[in-house]
Amino acid sequence: MKIRIDRKKSIPLYLQIKHQIEENIISGVYSNGFVLPSERKLAEDLGVNRNTTIKAYESLKDDYLIDSKIGKGTFVIYEKNIEQSLDFYQEIYWEQIVGNFSFENSADIMSKIMSDGSDSNMISLSGGFPSKDIFPHSIFEEISKDLLHKNKNVFFHTPVKGDKEFVITLKNYLYNNKAIHSDINEIMISSGAQQALNLIINSYIRPNDAIIIENPSFFGAIQLFKKAGAKLITTQVKNSALDLDHIEYNLKTSDVKFIYLVPNYQNPTGYVMNLETRKGILNLSRKYQVPIIEEDPYGELYYENYAPSIKSLDRDNFVIYVGTFSKTIAPGFRIGYIVADETVIKKLTLLNQFTDIHANTLSQNIINQFIRDGYYQEHLMKIREEYKVKRDLMMSYLDQLSDVLDYDKPLGGYYIWCRIRKNISVKNLLVESIKQGIDFIPGEFFFPEIGEGKNYFRLNFTYGSREEIKKGMEKLIESINNLKR
Ligand code: PMP
Repeated sequence: MKIRIDRKKSIPLYLQIKHQIEENIISGVYSNGFVLPSERKLAEDLGVNRNTTIKAYESLKDDYLIDSKIGKGTFVIYEKNIEQSLDFYQEIYWEQIVGNFSFENSADIMSKIMSDGSDSNMISLSGGFPSKDIFPHSIFEEISKDLLHKNKNVFFHTPVKGDKEFVITLKNYLYNNKAIHSDINEIMISSGAQQALNLIINSYIRPNDAIIIENPSFFGAIQLFKKAGAKLITTQVKNSALDLDHIEYNLKTSDVKFIYLVPNYQNPTGYVMNLETRKGILNLSRKYQVPIIEEDPYGELYYENYAPSIKSLDRDNFVIYVGTFSKTIAPGFRIGYIVADETVIKKLTLLNQFTDIHANTLSQNIINQFIRDGYYQEHLMKIREEYKVKRDLMMSYLDQLSDVLDYDKPLGGYYIWCRIRKNISVKNLLVESIKQGIDFIPGEFFFPEIGEGKNYFRLNFTYGSREEIKKGMEKLIESINNLKR
């Protein structure tokens, strides 16, 4: 039964329900004898109190349109000429058919904030994007021209698991630069890390599967896990470490399917997991036979010391490793990858065949050439230098707010994670900041539990130019000062 209720309307909910059922009865859609859902079921479907549906049904009974009998339920008692029944305007209630995800509101707010990056009137301190300033346009122009000129294949399919040459390039790159040993059968190219995660979650996670996840954690992963119906067991991120005893306790007491981690310059906290914790988690993964999903979009963006991935410590393929070129080159290429045991890759490849066919051929070819010609390493060195300067610039402004904010200096990546100590609401700060022409991401999105993280927010220091960071931070200081008064 499709009924739309609108809480903004002044008409009481029970009357909105009654009127729509009445309309359907009078018009003949619900014909004589049509069985209505129970009051309890209808209340559940519509997300209203049971008293509301009871009242709606009672009112319909008073009008002699429906009746209830024990054993038969509630049914229509109104006769209508079928001939006339389709001869009226009928609206389709898509909201009820397509349903609601519990995180839909936050996803809407998030996509709005993300689109601020392309609004020239806003300075975006929110999005997780690389800088446009140092994007090597001319090199990509040259590589693309060359590819388009010589190679018609760039407009056709690649194997589902990725272009063969690109997979080899990636395998060598990972070995030489990230100390990750793999075989070409253990690599799959995906349309970005998000799609990689989606494939992993869709392939392996069923409702009520338990997942251990850092708290806070990457918003996109939380959304996907929740959508799959997973039960998230959170483990606190604290001083570059996770509580291994707490993780072990959960591995002992729950049937955990995966441990999901972003150990390098995590989104949103920017924390880098210390080596002891990495080794400890890998040991636990082996001891309890619970694999790790390690996401590493920021690992190459270190501004102090390089931190090895858990995958590089993993000799027995307990880790499913997800990488991407979105943070180091550009997100529009939509190229990411998975390195995992061949059995895992085979299954993911199969699902990819059904859902995405393969990652974009031209993008794969361009990035392949970019790496092979040595440009990628040069580019990484450049962006590390520039992002370090921008990080320090942002920190110098944050230092002026030390009476209000707590934050740590991130040793790499994209983000500074801030906690407001004073009695200022992050929501009000966002409203005030948007008025001033800047934005950031409120921290609560990164916590699986609703209600947590209300006094945190995430700032990005890579996307804006130095000038924009200066202006943006001046505006943030002004916004905070306005709310302090
Ligand atoms: N994983 C993490 C941890 C991220 O921070 C992001 C970007 N916000 C992604 C995945 C998505 O990356 P991609 O553009 O490659 O899908």
